[in-house]
Amino acid sequence: MMTTNLTQPHVRVSWLDRTLIAAVVLLSSIFPVELFSNTPPAPRGSDGQYSGKQGQVLVVKVKGEEQATEVKGAFLKRTIPFFREFRPDEPPGYIGLLGIDMQDEPGTYELAVEVKQGEQAKRLSFNVLVAKEKFAVEHLTLPKDKVDLDEKAVARWKAEQQEVQQALAENSRLKLWHSNFVEPVNGKRTGIFGSVRVMNGQARNPHNGEDIGAPLGAEVSATNDGIVRITVDHIFSGKGIFIDHGLGFYTMYFHLSEVLVKDGDLVTAGQIIGKVGATGRATGPHLHWGVKLNGARVNPYSLLDLPLKNGIVRTGTIATPASEAAPAP
Ligand SMILES: [Zn+2]
Repeated sequence: MMTTNLTQPHVRVSWLDRTLIAAVVLLSSIFPVELFSNTPPAPRGSDGQYSGKQGQVLVVKVKGEEQATEVKGAFLKRTIPFFREFRPDEPPGYIGLLGIDMQDEPGTYELAVEVKQGEQAKRLSFNVLVAKEKFAVEHLTLPKDKVDLDEKAVARWKAEQQEVQQALAENSRLKLWHSNFVEPVNGKRTGIFGSVRVMNGQARNPHNGEDIGAPLGAEVSATNDGIVRITVDHIFSGKGIFIDHGLGFYTMYFHLSEVLVKDGDLVTAGQIIGKVGATGRATGPHLHWGVKLNGARVNPYSLLDLPLKNGIVRTGTIATPASEAAPAP
């Protein structure tokens, strides 16, 4: 004989559930939900075109959206937050920094931008041409144990990566940086950002930053204002600092001999944060300077070349939307 389930848990609605349902019904009658339905998505690329090479940073401008409450872009599954920027001769607009990762495949991709204004939303569509950068091939000879990791070292490396990932999962919702970036150390640019690395004859991950050769103990400055998100002493990076500049933008400083800041410290552009060393996997004293921009590994020197000075965006230097360059027929 069949037994009857008297409790029927799937139809029982608890007091809490009922309260929640009532709250949702009430709220949706006060705030009609119409997030994405206001305008149909723009045809792909109809709002302009940008182009850049692997590892570059593009400045994307959205003009005349004074009333916007939030502007954000999506590019290759990465989110690009936009921020308000005022220019003396132009109406206020929004700016987004779009990082092209050093390993993004060359091609044309869409940057979809959503402009929210209260409950209204508008979508813009830009085409972004990613061009191939010619990266060098670098042959390095290192002590065997720094290249061929034993089991214990692999476990340590994995745990350290997780520690960094967790620390960087939390980023400042505020833009903390301003337009004048500082080169962190006076030294020789090696120009090996993105280089394909061959260590002791074995192919390894490409180099995700720029190395600046400088003497042991040379002072290292923060490139811009931010919060020290985490300081580390890791197997590859040695003594290192990760600075959060807000809106998903981080800079990293590795192989230091000394770290002069601690987690949570607020730093300003040009502030001395550490000293050059050769800790971790390094062949000699140098600063490894890295940048992560909304998940993209970009050339740190592209920050110094941004067409932003004193809060003013100089137009037409890195990229100009096609719609600006030539009026549509
Ligand atoms: Zn390096």
